[in-house]
Amino acid sequence: MNDNPLLDTSGLPHFTQIRAEHVEPAVDQVLAENRALADALLSGATTADWRHLIAPLEALQERLGRIWSPVGHLHSVADNDALRVAYNACLPKLSAYATECGQDKRRYQAYKTVSESALASESADMLEPAQHRILENALRDFRLSGIDLPQDKQDRFKAIMQALSEHMAKFEQNLLDATQAWHYQTDNTAELAGLPETSLSLFKEAAERAGETGWRLTLDAPSYLAVMSYAENRALRERLYEAYATRASDQGPHAGRWDNTQEMNSILSLRHEAAELLGYDNYADRALATRMAQDSDQVIAFLTDLARHSLTVAQGEMAELRAYARDAPGLDPLEAWDIAFVSERLRQERYAITQEELRPYFPIDRVLDGLFAIVNRLYGIRVSPVTSIETWHPDVRFFDIHDGDGEPRGRFYLDLYAREHKRGGAWMDECVLRQRRDHHVETPVAYLTCNFAPPSGGKPGLLTHDEVTTLFHEFGHGLHHMLSRIDDAGVACIQGVAWDAVELPSQFMENWCWEAEALPLFSKHYESGAPLPEELLDRMLKARNFQAGMKMARQIEFALFDFRLHREYDPAKGAEQILALIDEVRKEIAVVIPPSYHRFAHSFAHIFSGGYAAGYYSYKWAEVLSCDAYSLFKEQGIFNPETGRSFLENILEKGGSEDPMTLFCNFRGREPQIDALLQQSGILA
Ligand code: ZN
Repeated sequence: MNDNPLLDTSGLPHFTQIRAEHVEPAVDQVLAENRALADALLSGATTADWRHLIAPLEALQERLGRIWSPVGHLHSVADNDALRVAYNACLPKLSAYATECGQDKRRYQAYKTVSESALASESADMLEPAQHRILENALRDFRLSGIDLPQDKQDRFKAIMQALSEHMAKFEQNLLDATQAWHYQTDNTAELAGLPETSLSLFKEAAERAGETGWRLTLDAPSYLAVMSYAENRALRERLYEAYATRASDQGPHAGRWDNTQEMNSILSLRHEAAELLGYDNYADRALATRMAQDSDQVIAFLTDLARHSLTVAQGEMAELRAYARDAPGLDPLEAWDIAFVSERLRQERYAITQEELRPYFPIDRVLDGLFAIVNRLYGIRVSPVTSIETWHPDVRFFDIHDGDGEPRGRFYLDLYAREHKRGGAWMDECVLRQRRDHHVETPVAYLTCNFAPPSGGKPGLLTHDEVTTLFHEFGHGLHHMLSRIDDAGVACIQGVAWDAVELPSQFMENWCWEAEALPLFSKHYESGAPLPEELLDRMLKARNFQAGMKMARQIEFALFDFRLHREYDPAKGAEQILALIDEVRKEIAVVIPPSYHRFAHSFAHIFSGGYAAGYYSYKWAEVLSCDAYSLFKEQGIFNPETGRSFLENILEKGGSEDPMTLFCNFRGREPQIDALLQQSGILA
C-alpha cells in the first residue's frame, strides 16, 4: 500500500486525505512509471497485438487520468493556495508528457502495426468495434500532430504550434487589458435611472474598490449587459456600447492601444499553414477531421438552410421592435444601443415574467426527485442516495444508479451550491471511466457541479427555471458518462465523442423542463405544495421564444463568419479580409447593421483564443441534434419507454465507440433535420 492516497486507484478518491503535498510527488511518480512501462512495451519485446501492447498502453493513460481527476476537481471546487501551487506545478509536466506521447514514433508505429494486422488478418473480428475505433482515433490524432511529416516540415509544424499558442495568448491578454482599462465613473444617480438595485450595488462596490465616489461602470459582462438592457439614459448606453464594441481594436476610446488586428491575422495565417502542411486545403477542413460534420460544404449548407428559414422571422421581429420604439419618446430611429433596452421593455410588457417569480416552485429536493423519476420512466434506471461516501464538503451528496436488472451502472457526486473557493458555472466531469478489469467491469463515476444559491433563512434551496434547466443539462452529460456500456476506456463514456456531438445528450435532457406533462413531477410550491399555476407556465412558454428569429440570426452570423473565415482565408490578402468578410456575412444574414466603428471580430475570443475555431457552428448543430432526437419523443410520447430504451441503447450506451452520425441515424431512422429546432423556436409553424 502506498501512503500517497492519490496513487491508490482501487476505488473512489480519498478526498479527505488528499493534501497539496501529495500532488506533485504522485504525478511525478506516475509519469516516471508510465515512461518506464511504455518504454518496456515499445522496446519490441512484446507481441504486437491489442492485448499485449495497446491495452497496456491505454491503461497507462487511464491511470494518469484517474490520479489527476480528483486534483483537477479539488482545484475547481475546493481551492486553496497550496493546492493551486501544486496544481500549477504539474500542468507543464502533464503537457510535456502529452506532447511527448503524441510525438513518439514508436508509439505511433505500435498503433499502426496493430491496426494494420487487425485489418489484414482473418482474426479482424477478434477486435471489438470499440477497439477498432480507439486505433483509428489514435492514428488520426498522431497524423494531426504532424508525426508523418518529413523532418523539416515537422520542425516547422512544431514552430507553428508554439507561435500559435503565443499569439492566442496575446489576443486574450489584449482583450482582457482593453476590457479592464475602460470604466465610467459618475456621482449623478439620475444618470443611472432604470438600472436594478443589484446592478447599482455592483457599481458602488466597484467604485469603492477603486477608491472612487459614486458608481463605477465597467465593460465586464454583468455591468455592460445591465446597462444595455435597463439604463434609460440613451447617451450612457451609447457610451458603453461604443467602448465595448471597439475593445482591442483600431477604433473607439482606446483606438490602437491593444489592437488585435495583427494577432488575428497571425493566428489565421498560422492555422492555415499548419492545415496545409497536414494536406488540407484550409483550416476548416482540418478542424472537421475530428468532428461529426462530414465536410465544410455540409456545414455551410446547414447554416445557410437555418438562415433561410430564420431571416424572415427575424426581420419581422425587428420591424415589430422598430414600431414599438416609434411610440416611445426619444427612441426613434432605433439605434444599435437601443435594441437590448427596447427588447427588454417589450418582453416585460408582454410576458411580465421574471426568474425570481418561479423560484418558490422549484425546491431542490422536489427537482431532484422529479429528475430521477423522469429518467426512471425513460430508461428504467433507479437513482438512490448513498450517505457513507466521503466527499470534499458536507453539502456534497452521492448517488448510485442501478438499471432495471439491478446492475450497478454509475455513481455520482452532486455538488449543488455556490461557496467560496469554488469556480462558478455548472459542469460534468469524469472521476472514473467505465473499463474492463481482470475480473470485472469498473462502474463509471461522475462529478456533477452547479453553483446555485444555498438554502438560507430556513428555506430549502430554491431554483429558478433557468437553474432547473442547467441541472437537467448537466445530468444529461452525466448519463452519457455513467450509462456507457463500452468496456474500453478510450471510447467509453464521453471519451472519443466528436466535439460537435457531445452536447446532444445534455441539451436533449433540457426538453423535459418545458413540458406541461413533466413539470408537475419536479415542481411544487415549497410552502403550500401548490402546483405551478397554469397561467405562469403559459407565460413562461411564450417568453421562451421571444425574438427567437433574431437570436438565431445572430448566432448564424457568428457561426458563418467563423467558418468561412477559416475556410476562405487567403494568406496573400492579410488582415483586411477579416473585416470584409464580416461585412459580407452581415449583408446576408444580419437584421441589425452596427455602426462602421464596430469591431466584433477583435473580441471574438471563442475562435481566436478559445477552442471554437471553425467550430462556432456546433452550438446550432448540437441544438438541431437534440431537438430532432426529442421530436421522436414528441411523436411517440415524452415518457415512452420504448423510445427511451432506443435512445439509451443507440446513443447513451455507445459513447465514442462509433461514428456519431451512424449512432444518430440508428436512433432517429434518418439523418438529422432542422425542422424540429425551427418548430421548437416558433420559427416554423
Ligand atoms: Zn453542456
